[in-house]
Amino acid sequence: MKVVISADMEGTAGVTCWAETEPDKPDYPEFQALMTAEMTAACNGALDAGATEIIVKDAHHTGRNLLVDRLPAEVRIVRHWSGHPHSMMFAIDGDCAAAICTGYHDAAGTDSNPLAHSFAGRIMRLMINGALASEFTVNAITAASLGVPSAFLSGDAGICAAAEALVPGIVTLPVSRGFGPATSSLSPGCARERIREGVARALFDPGARHPASLAARWEVELEFANPVEAYRGSFFPGVDYPAPRRLRFARDDWFQVLRTLRFLW
Ligand SMILES: [Zn+2]
Repeated sequence: MKVVISADMEGTAGVTCWAETEPDKPDYPEFQALMTAEMTAACNGALDAGATEIIVKDAHHTGRNLLVDRLPAEVRIVRHWSGHPHSMMFAIDGDCAAAICTGYHDAAGTDSNPLAHSFAGRIMRLMINGALASEFTVNAITAASLGVPSAFLSGDAGICAAAEALVPGIVTLPVSRGFGPATSSLSPGCARERIREGVARALFDPGARHPASLAARWEVELEFANPVEAYRGSFFPGVDYPAPRRLRFARDDWFQVLRTLRFLW
């Protein structure tokens, strides 16, 4: 059984401020280690369930956060950003039995994580087919487009609830909850224990997990914080510019959505 893990950082137990997630800040090494430990716990859960091959995408900021020497031997890691439209899911393919997300955070425009955002900080809101979309929404649809179910997600309570609404049957583990700029979270040790157990439970019967639903047509709207950001994207083929700060486009094929997004943010 081959599984793919997409590891982000802002939904790691304890993480509360941007400085804890930025490599040039003194706070970062402590939280980089916590991100690594949660991802490693997910790997161990997958191994407990019989995974024979695990591909991890380091999917935060520079794509070079995870302490690679701490990875289990069965893991192959993808670091940095290739430019491929699969982005945070780069390395996934149709042979994967399941996709797993660790350290995930709620969407731009929500208040469940002080660090909530969607891809780029300059995006205030991402809507897909009329619903608020998160990074998980995009990544779960990407997995589904390859026939891969989203089996497990750990992160803040907001993204866990959103993931359960999007992908019935997904196993989630809320490690933290935001209150304005503050967070309340599990202890890192407890989070790791529950992530390992949750991933193992999610993969024990991968047939019980489901891919996100696919639509026949995708209508996407992006709202930027600053009008000058939207203007540039308005020249991309097939992208409408309905108002300052907003871009809108529709595509029949999900990969064409990803290709377009790749050039808009
Ligand atoms: Zn991140």
